[in-house]
Amino acid sequence: MNRTDFIENEKIRVLKLYTSQKHIEGFQSKYKFMEWFINQLNKQDFKCYYCETSIFDIRELMEKEKLKKRKIGHGFRGPILEIDKMNNDLGYRPSNCVLACYYCNNDKSYTLDSEKYKEFFGPTRKLFFDFLIKS
Ligand SMILES: [Zn+2]
Repeated sequence: MNRTDFIENEKIRVLKLYTSQKHIEGFQSKYKFMEWFINQLNKQDFKCYYCETSIFDIRELMEKEKLKKRKIGHGFRGPILEIDKMNNDLGYRPSNCVLACYYCNNDKSYTLDSEKYKEFFGPTRKLFFDFLIKS
């Protein structure tokens, strides 16, 4: 999937996400929310904020069955970048949110400090993903 197709899919997916009440406090409308998401995707160059691995590399690892997706109810976690609240107490607002891969987001959860996670765990995960890519 190229970047243009990926962005078009994400626009549709993210607009649907906004129905959740929890997003409303920090983003004025679902269109502002979608706009923020796409800008952030470009700003982060389609990479996870923490491990700086491209979502396209992660998707390729999945396609080659070198990395598993996490099955959830109706779908999977893994093939898209997720919205992470850097400080859980500040909720969903643009200045508090970044995009993270499922593996970093799930691991960091709300238990670890965002910048410390990026400093200590991000680079190690990147090493592991790079290893998988080369293997
Ligand atoms: Zn990551």
